Amino acid sequence: MVQLAEALTPVSIKAFTALAAKRLRAASSHLDALDATIGDGDHGTSIARLFAAADSKLPAEGSTSDLLSSFGTALLDAGTGASGVLYATFFITLGKCLADEAEVTLTPLATATTAAVNALCRRGDANLGDATMIDAAMPFAETLAKCAADGCDLSESLRRASNAAQAGATSTANLVPRRGRARGFGEAALGHEDPGAASFAIVSTCLAEVLAP
Ligand code: ADP
Ligand code: MG
Repeated sequence: MVQLAEALTPVSIKAFTALAAKRLRAASSHLDALDATIGDGDHGTSIARLFAAADSKLPAEGSTSDLLSSFGTALLDAGTGASGVLYATFFITLGKCLADEAEVTLTPLATATTAAVNALCRRGDANLGDATMIDAAMPFAETLAKCAADGCDLSESLRRASNAAQAGATSTANLVPRRGRARGFGEAALGHEDPGAASFAIVSTCLAEVLAP
């Protein structure tokens, strides 16, 4: 049995979903403002509502994998809008890929996160460089995989991965959007951070925080 801090437990998932709902609520005006510039202005309000609803429906019991899948399904049930479906795909895939793991240590988490980002790309028909949440999600997954290969511990890996997600989100301001509502803005979107990438960076920081020593 590994030490608690080296594995993602049901307790850490519950702390994560509660913290993410709280942080997204606090950031909702900022995220709405980002979406108002290159979309329809609802991203913060919408994602804060979806995360709060899904957090409140989290089952009392269940494995790490069950809770992640339930959270994703609840996002889907609660939601409308592009990002709700994409976040749901991410968490449902993460849960499914971890179903056979007795303990969610760094290596299975990194593998499942890569699969979840790939599912996100397929769902949105998008890739790195399209100025979407994938520009935050893919560096997050790649950093976890690199940290797993290097033998880092889980909390340090999540800290590095969330920093990479934040850097990826910031980089979207230098990209011409190729997916979602922002696509219609073309080069006029340059200089503006993608709201979905910004929210993904917030969410990934919450996961790192609940595992911080
Ligand atoms: P909507 O565009 O339906 O109003 P939101 O405002 O909640 O949805 O979310 C917008 C975010 O969703 C974008 O900033 C982007 O990160 C993400 N997004 C939109 N379309 C796609 C796509 N096809 N692939 C990946 N991400 C996408
Ligand atoms: Mg929107």
